[in-house]
Amino acid sequence: MTFQDLNLITPLLDALTRQGYSKPTPIQEKAIPCILEGKDILGCAQTGTGKTAAFALPILQLLSKPENKTQGIKALVLAPTRELALQIHESFKAYGNNMNLKYALIFGGVSQHGQVNSLRTGVDVVIATPGRLLDLMQQRHVKLNSIKFFVLDEADRMLDMGFINDIKKIITQLPAKKQTIFLSATISPEIRKLTDKLLQHPVSINIEPVKSTAALIQQGIYYVNKENKKALLNHILKDAMIENALVFTRTKRGADKVVKDLNKNKIKAEAIHGNKSQNARERALKGFKNKTTRVLVATDIASRGIDIDSLNYVINYELPEEAATYVHRIGRTGRAGASGTAVSFCSPDEVTYLRDINKLLNRNIEEIKGHPFGNNGTAASKNK
Ligand code: AMP
Repeated sequence: MTFQDLNLITPLLDALTRQGYSKPTPIQEKAIPCILEGKDILGCAQTGTGKTAAFALPILQLLSKPENKTQGIKALVLAPTRELALQIHESFKAYGNNMNLKYALIFGGVSQHGQVNSLRTGVDVVIATPGRLLDLMQQRHVKLNSIKFFVLDEADRMLDMGFINDIKKIITQLPAKKQTIFLSATISPEIRKLTDKLLQHPVSINIEPVKSTAALIQQGIYYVNKENKKALLNHILKDAMIENALVFTRTKRGADKVVKDLNKNKIKAEAIHGNKSQNARERALKGFKNKTTRVLVATDIASRGIDIDSLNYVINYELPEEAATYVHRIGRTGRAGASGTAVSFCSPDEVTYLRDINKLLNRNIEEIKGHPFGNNGTAASKNK
């Protein structure tokens, strides 16, 4: 399925191309058509599934309709934390950047002055954390009586953080007639009470957490000093059983360096990253898919949306700073229940990244011992 199949309008399709998204994620496939039809949604999905675009894209599309070009705030998105609110705001700006809509970001911990000013200019979409929004409502800086679309993101986390009363107060100020999108990673009895009150004949969408794919993939860690990573990569690739491998680096420069070194060692490799033209990227991908290129070296951004069947080896040459990115990376292998292997190089400066990854996976990735480039000083003890 493509974004065109979801009947998105051209400004949004253009924005998605700019973002480098090639196809919708499962939650986007399911949620976008329902939201465009005006249905309420009860979505069970975690960060990393593409849930933000799943609601932001159809809301932007609906806001572009003539009947929704009314005065006042038309969409309200509530998020539990400032970080999440910021990300959602960024997403709205990125996807809707040529749609002539205005967005306001409201959160606590900073002066309210700038936020009040931005509200005064008249905005279409407000993205807010509950406490500060309620504050501004009580001071009459925000009126929510023109809301048509309401999103409650990460509702379970909001409840955990003690926002339930704030949320209830905010909800009483919303018009009865509106479309509501309710997202929560878990559905507890308390959440159920809220959804029963808030949602009308909702469509339920359940997306498996990204985590579970990780279970199918064999994973291992090589403890290695930075300067030995090149040698270790060449050593691993001597194994002829590895038909093709996707190698991840954190930076574009890093990707180019790895390719150069592999080519020097007669291993056919190509890089795919943001500094390459669309043509060069497509060529590299084609070569990798038809197996004339054995190794594809990618940065995280460039690798999004790359769909390679029968990829059986992922190598994290550098660990990502975000643990969720690790799960995305290794999810490139072991597709559809097939077996896959993902190995990661961890140098002493990356041990904290590994710790976060282990926490997310809820287990310690096993160390691969006995390779010629081991660094005993930083090994597994630090990984606990
Ligand atoms: P979210 O689950 O909304 O936090 O999104 C996780 C990440 O996936 C974000 O960095 C998005 O930019 C990215 N993303 C969302 N949709 C897609 C898509 N269809 N293709 C590639 N990346 C996407």
